[in-house]
Amino acid sequence: MQTTEYNLKEERKQILDAYRSLVRSIGSKKSKEDLEILRKAFDIAVEAHKDMRRKSGEPYIFHPIAVARICAEEMGLGVTSIVCALLHDTVEDTYVTLEDVERQFGSKYSKIVDGLTKIDEVFDYTTSDQAENFRKLLISMTDDVRVILIKIADRLHNMRTLESMRSDKQLKIASETSFLYAPLAHRLGFYNIKSELEDLALRYTEPEAYQEIQEKLEKDKEVRTRFIRHFSAPIKKELETQGFSFEIKGRPKSVYSIWNKIHKKGVAFEEIYDLFAIRIIIDSKPEYEKADCWKVYSIVTDFYKPSPERLRDWITTPKQNGYESLHTTVMSPTG
Ligand code: MN
Repeated sequence: MQTTEYNLKEERKQILDAYRSLVRSIGSKKSKEDLEILRKAFDIAVEAHKDMRRKSGEPYIFHPIAVARICAEEMGLGVTSIVCALLHDTVEDTYVTLEDVERQFGSKYSKIVDGLTKIDEVFDYTTSDQAENFRKLLISMTDDVRVILIKIADRLHNMRTLESMRSDKQLKIASETSFLYAPLAHRLGFYNIKSELEDLALRYTEPEAYQEIQEKLEKDKEVRTRFIRHFSAPIKKELETQGFSFEIKGRPKSVYSIWNKIHKKGVAFEEIYDLFAIRIIIDSKPEYEKADCWKVYSIVTDFYKPSPERLRDWITTPKQNGYESLHTTVMSPTG
């Protein structure tokens, strides 16, 4: 029974606004053809989803637009992926057929949309025990990795809007996210997305623990920010003196990684010392990268005492997903 009255004129305006923001988020590298094909995908998706609404009551089309925007803005994907993201739910949920997509856009697009439709069926029958094998299988059998990337963007938006779902569904979607999608995002090198997926999932699978950690983190946020600033100052100065081109930023540990530590190692929140990390990103020529990283390491450890067993060299042996970096844990003079 639908009793809400929607302001359709206002909604149309909002939909168009959302589309324009999407186009802006793509940046300057788009041709006239790109804009035309984007607009065509948008028009088809708007029409196909026009009578559908999400659980929250908003027009369904906001979902594919948001997914497309994640692809553009947060994953840096190209126009083909953005177009497919706009179309990603049409074949599965509306009268639009795969043949329609092929006729309108060509086989490059219809193959990806087809992959997105099929992958859903496989995902639906996977349990956490099969997750590891499944991830491997998925990556090897999908001949276009964009299918998986768009799928991750789709899941990220669904997790961000999980609030309005029924609670049994929330739990199913959240646990699937932590055993399938977060590791998948990690494997493909999307660290921020992996971390956000883990945090969002934990919010629903372990609501009390999530709340508690979140509050504690929030409580001494200011103290931590100030500490990070003090801590980085001498390093920053020395890097400047030595002529490095660099960026230095503090990264608070995610709620999930704290929970994981408490859970696995049985320690208390107060016993976790590396509640935050500092990231130094340097811009150097590929042939000097390794040497420069060690120079920076030596600058850091001139100021702070390192703990030798905590040194990780991901430069000599990069992680499977291509990640390269030096990690270390150091102690400030105040402990
Ligand atoms: Mn979707």
